[in-house]
Amino acid sequence: MGRYTINHDLRELIRQGHGMRQDRRWDLFKCHQCGKCCVELPYDPESIFGIAKFLELDVPQVIEKYYGRIVNDGKAWESEDQKRKPCPFLRADGAWKSCAIYSVRPEGCKSYPFDTDCGRAGIDCPGARIVYVKLKRGRSLTS
Ligand code: SF4
Ligand code: SF4
Repeated sequence: MGRYTINHDLRELIRQGHGMRQDRRWDLFKCHQCGKCCVELPYDPESIFGIAKFLELDVPQVIEKYYGRIVNDGKAWESEDQKRKPCPFLRADGAWKSCAIYSVRPEGCKSYPFDTDCGRAGIDCPGARIVYVKLKRGRSLTS
């Protein structure tokens, strides 16, 4: 269990994510909506406001409901795995998975699978696997 300040800064993660959008892998990528990567609801200080607005809650309410518990007179929060894992916003329609907050999902979700693993290392993303196969084939055709 980790303790975070409310304004915990993950700007480096976000910067890396935005910087690599020109990465060719993104052009070739198609999400299969398998939901394998939605093992945990990521937190970042930018997206939390958008999520709160979308859900018509305030930020402490979002933290308490989906991330953990507020401590230290509201100055910090502690993560609780049982709220975040698996991600509470993952929706299933048979094998087809979707995100209930897709338009405001955290940066860690937007940046996965190429710009960050966001704690999802070891997950076999089928969309990423196909990209690597395509790139490998392309290389063998040109070499
Ligand atoms: S594991 Fe890959 S293909 Fe599956 S939902 Fe996540 S990003 Fe999409
Ligand atoms: S917020 Fe959406 S995309 Fe991100 S882990 Fe949860 S269900 Fe998956």
